[in-house]
Amino acid sequence: MDLYEYQGKELFRRFGILVSEGRLARTPAEARAAAEALGGPVVVKAQVLTGGRGKAGGIKLADGPDDAERKAEEILGLDIRGHVVRKLWIESASEIAKEHYLSVTFDRGAKKALFMLTTEGGVEIEEVAAEKPEALARLHVDPLEGFQPYQARRLIYRAGIEDEAEQKQILDLVGKLYRCFVESDAMLCEINPLIVTPEGEVRALDSKFTVDDNALYKHPDLAEMRDPEAYPPEERAAREKGVTYVKLDGDVGILGNGAGLVMSTLDMIALVGGRPANFCDLGGGGDAQGVVDALEVITADPQVRSILFNIFAGITRCDEVARGILQALERIRIERPIVVRFDGTNAEEGRELLEEAAPPNLHAEPTMLEAARRAVELAA
Ligand code: GDP
Ligand code: MN
Repeated sequence: MDLYEYQGKELFRRFGILVSEGRLARTPAEARAAAEALGGPVVVKAQVLTGGRGKAGGIKLADGPDDAERKAEEILGLDIRGHVVRKLWIESASEIAKEHYLSVTFDRGAKKALFMLTTEGGVEIEEVAAEKPEALARLHVDPLEGFQPYQARRLIYRAGIEDEAEQKQILDLVGKLYRCFVESDAMLCEINPLIVTPEGEVRALDSKFTVDDNALYKHPDLAEMRDPEAYPPEERAAREKGVTYVKLDGDVGILGNGAGLVMSTLDMIALVGGRPANFCDLGGGGDAQGVVDALEVITADPQVRSILFNIFAGITRCDEVARGILQALERIRIERPIVVRFDGTNAEEGRELLEEAAPPNLHAEPTMLEAARRAVELAA
């Protein structure tokens, strides 16, 4: 789960990381009131779950309440790469002498937390990694050993931070960020830019924060931070029904059992010249209710013109899935063509059940490739 900047900063603050004072605003009038309460120049920041807001016009300085209201009017409603701005974070403006970058993320390959620090902050880290890799200090933290201050010193030294007062503050900050990362069960805590003010104070000016979905049950306060409005309506409905679903922009609806199989089904659709409308994993089940739920989610997308059911049965049995599909079709009316590919346990029995019932819009195909071709044809 991704957090908004203002939520990530709230967590930073709880762990003792310096951030600027700010207020949330949903209207220009609230932005004005926030600027009045804060006093002095402010920065009006679009709260959307995507980065690069600055470049997209979603971050603007304002010299006072009047200006903050005007800037809020400009930013609210803006579409930043598919994310419509509905909330603003109004924050006391900072003076910036330096822009660093600091993050800690989970390196799955190494099975360790990975810190990255560079004095080349403010720009996308991918750019730094590609163009100036020597400027990017990287350091793993062994989860058994835990974080040790000498590691932060090494990181700071490698990044080439020379000012002593700055070194001291960053040393302290790295330790706090590690605690924040571990105790929040985060997958990513990124501060870009980590600024140094002209007075030499180090402060987090931005936050990108991702919490591990699977750990949310341990953190009711974090789970509550989820903003249902930030997700497309189809994904929201899917979440409520417990269906694993991601909307894509093609026209072939996809349903399969197992994330890996669904991923390869998406590839197969692309291979035969089609475009998948979604990712949808039925999981291990395949009972009627699961199929109904998934079909409801998939067909709610008006772009879907055909549906491909790809089942490779191991523990699941194809005859059970076939019954699930037939029951589902009794419960919800689907006129769009459905192509079914069964393989594995009881595939033959499954196909026979479908053939006996023979709904006119149901097409059984023996292989994944043929099924993909058929589904793409039927979507045309
Ligand atoms: P992002 O574009 O989504 O990464 O948003 P950021 O919060 O990182 O802001 C983008 C850029 O806006 C920063 O790198 C800063 O250069 C600038 N910026 C943000 N807040 C302030 C501020 O308080 N004062 C000044 N002078 N610049 C700011
Ligand atoms: Mn940023």
